[in-house]
Amino acid sequence: MTHEAGIPLGIRFKLLSDTPQDSAAQVVSDVVIGDYRDLDTLRAFARGCDVITFDHEHVPTEHLRALEADGIPVRPGPDALVHAQDKGVMRARLDAIGVPCPRHRIVSDPQDVAAFAAEGGGGFPVVLKTVRGGYDGKGVWVVDSVEEAAEPFRAGVPVLAEEKVDFVRELAANVVRSPHGQAVAYPVVESRQVNGVCDTVIAPAPDLDPAVGLKAEEMALRIAKELGVVGHLAVELFQTRDGRILVNELAMRPHNSGHWTQDGAITSQFANHVRAVLDLPLGDPRPRAPWTVMVNVLGGDYPDMYAAYLHCMARDPRLKIHMYGKDVKQGRKVGHVNTYGDDLDDVLERARHAAGYLRGTITE
Ligand code: ADP
Repeated sequence: MTHEAGIPLGIRFKLLSDTPQDSAAQVVSDVVIGDYRDLDTLRAFARGCDVITFDHEHVPTEHLRALEADGIPVRPGPDALVHAQDKGVMRARLDAIGVPCPRHRIVSDPQDVAAFAAEGGGGFPVVLKTVRGGYDGKGVWVVDSVEEAAEPFRAGVPVLAEEKVDFVRELAANVVRSPHGQAVAYPVVESRQVNGVCDTVIAPAPDLDPAVGLKAEEMALRIAKELGVVGHLAVELFQTRDGRILVNELAMRPHNSGHWTQDGAITSQFANHVRAVLDLPLGDPRPRAPWTVMVNVLGGDYPDMYAAYLHCMARDPRLKIHMYGKDVKQGRKVGHVNTYGDDLDDVLERARHAAGYLRGTITE
């Protein structure tokens, strides 16, 4: 989708991909198949690139530092990106710049988790997270006892404990920043998760107090500036019962909470990410319609998309379908749909219907 945004600008991508089946490898013509964890592979790949950017945050920080030392512009750079790679580093930095987060600390073993639970006065449950490598709820455990707290330590990587926030909903503040400091903010969205996986995004977040929305946008812009982010930054937020906004985590790349912008904003997150990475002036982030809803399409029992396309396109001419060319596996994100309009209930119903029909859970 980032490549797609570069096409009308004549910007060519060279792609480092794990396998030829990866979504991007199916559409980018200049593909190198290789392991992003191997420095020699990265160095050989980077030769001849004007600038390097990412669609995931797992390239080792020290390798990115080596590329920078070789004179390759890496955007976002490793000093910023480490805050999206390591939840421990992110929490420490946000504390230092006074951004509100859930109560947290690094814990050493299950007894230490029990001590952390007691320190807050609330006891269990506690949320445990491996500091690196988690995604879509993998690497996150909600534990109710010392016994349950053993599991996250088995991988032998540092574990972060957090209070379990009693949130009313999850929000995301998406901003884009360029190297010379221009920045834009998309309207704050509501992000609904099912089993730890993003399911629905509503833009803008319904019934959000404009003052709270503005505060969240300003917070995201400040984080982008303080951390030196270049490109798209998604700040995942919890809105608590007492009206506070706490940061859950950061992503420094186009993000699922910003997919609605492809069809619902004047400039998409992908187009603005490309512009930022190349230090071009950023595009207008404002919405095109009063409401835009994105629903993820998860893999179901229904690999044949053609009949589903006929039905979905005929039913909703405003529907935009984005499929990723992935093999359909149960529960795997294989695409998303966007639709928009003036009436939120109607837009939500259309988006949910289309995603369910594409998955095969709705049949009429
Ligand atoms: P991932 O790296 O998988 O995206 P997250 O840190 O975003 O991990 O956690 C996944 C989901 O778990 C969140 O979207 C939220 O629903 C829940 N969660 C994470 N941290 C907390 C917390 N401190 N309190 C309550 N729920 C949490």
